[in-house]
Amino acid sequence: KFIVFEGPDRGGKSTQANLLRKYLEAAGYNVLQTREPGGTPVSEGIRKILLDPENSVSPRAELLLYEASRAQHTEEKILPALQEDKIVICERYTMSTCAYQGYGRGFDMDLINTVNNIATHGLQPDLTFVFLMSDKYFTERGEYLFSDRLELEGNEFREKMRQGYKELVKITPNAVLIDADNTVEEIHAKVLGHLKEFNIL
Ligand code: C5P
Repeated sequence: KFIVFEGPDRGGKSTQANLLRKYLEAAGYNVLQTREPGGTPVSEGIRKILLDPENSVSPRAELLLYEASRAQHTEEKILPALQEDKIVICERYTMSTCAYQGYGRGFDMDLINTVNNIATHGLQPDLTFVFLMSDKYFTERGEYLFSDRLELEGNEFREKMRQGYKELVKITPNAVLIDADNTVEEIHAKVLGHLKEFNIL
């Protein structure tokens, strides 16, 4: 089964992914926890290029670098793990590109879906969690924590991307919205509830 954690930065994706991995391992499941952009040596190299504030990456190059990183990661890690019947937990996947490069940068959504399909061989998550915190919290956290190249984008970009996630969760099959203002424990319990609801556990 393939589970994806999505949403803007600082929404608690990593914390929840770690908690879920520990929970599943303790319950005896075989788990692969991974993330985008990254997760393989080639993809981590691309991640460094993308996130370096010194780099001026054009929007088209950015789109294709994310997809190149995804293609490598999907082929090298995700697909083999699924073949071995592991539960794969991945932070970020195709929906990130729809939100950031689609809603954020304004690339055509059909074009993004096409490149997403090329990069993933059409592999879709069995369940996508979208972690969204309230506007107030988002701005407060943003002001002092954002530091990488994408995070230094203006508020307008971030707001478009955030609204994008709200739309995407409605139109994506097997996607659920999680209120990221709740406590870590509350969110973890909700995640487990949805895994049962979707017959993953
Ligand atoms: O989630 P994580 O912090 O690892 O994401 C790395 C950076 O890449 C973040 O700044 C995120 O906003 C950005 N990103 C992006 N477009 C994507 C995926 C991630 O701009 N498709």
